[in-house]
Amino acid sequence: MSYSLMDPNSYERYSRQILFAEIGEAGQQRLLESSAVIVGCGALGTALANLLVRAGVGRLRIVDRDFVEPSNLQRQTLFEEADARESLPKAVAAERRLRAINSGVAVEGIVADVGPKNAEDLLHGFPLILDGTDNFETRLLLNDVSVHLGVPWIYAAVVASYGVTLTVRPGLTACLACVLESAGTSGIDGASASVAGAEDTCDTVGVLGAAAGVIASIEAAEAIKLLVGKTESAGGRLVSFDVWSGRFQSVRVERNPECRACARHEFHYLEGDAQPHLTMCGRDSVQIHERRRQLDLAALGRRLAPTVAEVRENGFLLRFRVPPYEMTIFPDGRAIIKGTRDPAVARSLYARYISI
Ligand SMILES: [Zn+2]
Repeated sequence: MSYSLMDPNSYERYSRQILFAEIGEAGQQRLLESSAVIVGCGALGTALANLLVRAGVGRLRIVDRDFVEPSNLQRQTLFEEADARESLPKAVAAERRLRAINSGVAVEGIVADVGPKNAEDLLHGFPLILDGTDNFETRLLLNDVSVHLGVPWIYAAVVASYGVTLTVRPGLTACLACVLESAGTSGIDGASASVAGAEDTCDTVGVLGAAAGVIASIEAAEAIKLLVGKTESAGGRLVSFDVWSGRFQSVRVERNPECRACARHEFHYLEGDAQPHLTMCGRDSVQIHERRRQLDLAALGRRLAPTVAEVRENGFLLRFRVPPYEMTIFPDGRAIIKGTRDPAVARSLYARYISI
C-alpha cells in the first residue's frame, strides 16, 4: 500500500498528475487520502473506476447488482471474455482488475442492489458518491442520500451517442430533483431535453462505448476536483455531449428554492417503499429484489440439477435454464429471470425453484 508521496515509487507513479498545476503535490496527497463510492459498474462505472484508481484515489467502493455478460464487453472496459464466460458479478470482476491496475488503492467490490433499505449503510462514510447506474429511480435515491447526508454526488447518464452529467453539492448547487422535478419552470431547456430522452434505455436504442468514455471522463475530472478540494470549479452546470453529432452543451442550472429534496428535505425515494418488490430489468427480464435471506447456492444447485438444465454455480451466483427462461440467483435471495416481462411468470418460477 502506498498512501504517501514520501514513497519515491508513489511520487514517480503520479508524477504527470503532480506536474499538473491544479493538483500538484498537495492535491495528489489529498487524493491518496480520499475515498469515493461508485454505484453501478457498467459502461460509466468501469470507465470511471479505471480513471480514479489510476489517479490514486485512496479507497474506492464499487456496488453493483449484475454479472458480466458478453453484450457488456463492447463498452465496459474493466471486463474480459473470461469474466463473461464465468458469469462473474461485475463488482467482483471489477475489484480484481482494479487491484491489478493499482495495488496501492483499497478497492472493495460489493454485490448488492442499492435500494432505500440499504442505501445509507452502503454509501455513508464516503465524501463523494458517484453515479454509474442506469435508471432514474436509483439516481433519485442517490440524490436523496446525498442531500440527507450532506455529501456531494455526481449524476451521469449515457444512452446511444449522448450523455449528460451534473455535479451536485447539496445546499450549494442544484440537485437532481431541482433539475428533473421542476423542468419547464425555469430556463433549463438542456435539462428538459435530457429528461425527454429518459425513457430511452441502452436496451432499446443501444449505446456507444465512446459516449460512455466521454461522460465518464468528465465525471472523473469533477470527482478529482472535489476530492482535491478545488470545489469552486465543480457543480452547477448540466453538461451534455453527443459524440455522433459533436454537439456539446453546458447549461447553468439554478437551485429550485421550492425543491422537494434540497429545500424541503422530503426524501421520498429514501424513505418510501418506492422500490417495488419486482422490477423490469432490461428488455426481457424481471428482477425479484433481495429477500434478505442467505441461500447456500451450491446446495440449491445440487438439489435443482435433476429438474433443470445447464446448472452453473461459481460461488457468487447460481444460474440455470428452465426453457425458455433463464434464472440467475444471488446468495441474498435476489433473482433475475430472463425470458419474460411478466411479473406473474417470474414470481411463479421463483416460488417453484427457490422458495422451497
Ligand atoms: Zn434540489
